Amino acid sequence: MAYGGYQGRFLDVDLSAGRVEAHPVPEEMQRMYLGGDGIAARVLWDEVAPGVDPLGPENVLVIATGPLTGTLFPPSGRWMAASLSPLTSHWGEAHAGGFFGAELKYAGYDYLVIRGKASAPVWLCISDGRAELRRAAALWGKTVPETTETIARELGDPDVKVACIGPAGEKLVRYAAIMSDYWRAAGRTGTGAVMGAKGLKAIAVRGSGRVRVADAEGFLAACRDAHRAHREGEWADYIRRTSRRYGTTGLTDAMNAIGRLPVKNHGDGYLPDVERVGCEAIRQRYRVAHKACFGCALQCKYVSHVSSGPYRGTRSEGPEYETVDAWGPNILVYDLDVVMQANYLCNIYGLDTISAGAAVAFAMELYERGLIGKDDTGGMEIRWGDGQVALALLEQIARREGFGRLLGEGCDLAAREIGGEAPRYSISVNGLEASGQDPRSHKSVGCTYATNVRGADHLRSLSVIDELGFHSKAVERFPHLDPEVCGNLLDETYKGYMVADQEECFAVCDSMILCKYGVMWPPIYYFPEFARAISTATGMEEYADPEAVRALGRRICHLRRAFNVRVGWDRSRDTLHPRFTEEPMPSGPAQGQVCHLEPMLKEFYEVRGYDQATGLPYRDTLEQAGLGDVAEELGRLGRLAPGLRPARPRSEKSRSGGGGR
Ligand code: SF4
Repeated sequence: MAYGGYQGRFLDVDLSAGRVEAHPVPEEMQRMYLGGDGIAARVLWDEVAPGVDPLGPENVLVIATGPLTGTLFPPSGRWMAASLSPLTSHWGEAHAGGFFGAELKYAGYDYLVIRGKASAPVWLCISDGRAELRRAAALWGKTVPETTETIARELGDPDVKVACIGPAGEKLVRYAAIMSDYWRAAGRTGTGAVMGAKGLKAIAVRGSGRVRVADAEGFLAACRDAHRAHREGEWADYIRRTSRRYGTTGLTDAMNAIGRLPVKNHGDGYLPDVERVGCEAIRQRYRVAHKACFGCALQCKYVSHVSSGPYRGTRSEGPEYETVDAWGPNILVYDLDVVMQANYLCNIYGLDTISAGAAVAFAMELYERGLIGKDDTGGMEIRWGDGQVALALLEQIARREGFGRLLGEGCDLAAREIGGEAPRYSISVNGLEASGQDPRSHKSVGCTYATNVRGADHLRSLSVIDELGFHSKAVERFPHLDPEVCGNLLDETYKGYMVADQEECFAVCDSMILCKYGVMWPPIYYFPEFARAISTATGMEEYADPEAVRALGRRICHLRRAFNVRVGWDRSRDTLHPRFTEEPMPSGPAQGQVCHLEPMLKEFYEVRGYDQATGLPYRDTLEQAGLGDVAEELGRLGRLAPGLRPARPRSEKSRSGGGGR
């Protein structure tokens, strides 16, 4: 049977051969991996062999939607990109909102598999089931808005949806983003550099099709309830007060209040005068309109306009919380005009705002400590809080000029090249610069960062129950655990279980694909809501059972980790930067705290079925998840844990509750 929610076709784009072919999506692919992250994980496992150069033609870039993309279910207007990361050399992945994902579905495709390397720059034009490569010589060198406008003009279609790279992707900045709908960034892990290395400047889509669901009545009822949960449910007031009023910038103040706002290259977690860069200041000074992604009533996006000063007239979308922190407190810049300009420049050049800001913070700390000097920086004095220098470095990074050439490698590679003590100040985990969290003041973030397949960020497994004290959800989701301990930010106990639970939950969310804002923050949807949406949309009856949906999420988690294990990942990679484990938090509510990772890792491995000594999966862990062929290959490579997964004591099983199984 053909499942609902899918168009049932994907495009195989071979840039070396200049060939674009449509193929049917195997039903097994849909049933086992759902969409988005799941399908990308299977494609990359099958097609990207160990040892491949992330910037070489053998790397594969997957652009994917999910079975809910383009439907009425809120908020489902997202798409994702995945590849072997040129920044981390492991699993790379990034998601974006806007309208591109829905348009790709309406054009007749569920996902794209992009391989090879074009002999000269090209862009991919997709329109209602037709697809072709076109020459992009005239687009090369253009910014994201220029590229989008040029394509719209060429097609005579102002509504065409474009995902593209800017100059940063062309110059192979290892944290270049793929941008869609002008301002939506698939930012992390350098998928934009992969696109640039392939010579693919842009993908433009236009579609007038529709998405058929299996059980229209059941699905509509699920949609109605989901919309109602945002509008009238117990979280409606929270949403009105936070996301709709401030977007994600509301987190600047909220994170500072719990001592989790990275300040001065993650040196601290608290800014006494946060209101200078807080959400209300941004709202009052810059916000001129609300916006939303496809089909989303939450409207957390906004248009900002700079009305005075040196950047007068700059109009953009955002910034998001992560950008405010990366270009504000984390480099000690208080001038919000600089933050707005950094956001604008990162977007038009196609740069991940988090990694780019982290690179500047890294340089500022190295300069302060005398590990680099003016001889290294081309004469620049790189001092904390100097917004003009920060923006100058941003320009250099995007063009890979001057000191920006080195910073464009990412902090870890740059630190290695600089040598000496420099690696100590590259605040990253497994090659990815840390996002705007701190494991000292939110202990479960330590487990999230350490076990995250893409490195130090919060979007693969962040536990929100302890983050903002959603006590009722702790009781509901972990009935056998003490909710007070679950909700204690500063206690590592149970956090390994909670992170594993959230990783499975996020994996499903990222495969359906839904926006986490309004799904996870606040924690509105969980496996029962996912089960209802997936089963009514697709008609896959097994997924009417929330536990089957959890098992699906677990399978995707195992497969992504197996991708990393195959290229060498083991327990030694499940680690944290010493800033979080050895340097006590200097001030704020978490003053004196460090993160103790080991107890959380023990819980995480136990519940996930990984060996405590090596962090490798057991054969039966993978086989029980339906990944027998993956176990077979890891076994051949000597990358499985020895023996069988130990039986868990009954008391442990019940203690880990819904999160632990
Ligand atoms: S919550 Fe915000 S980011 Fe998410 S889909 Fe809606 S408008 Fe887009």
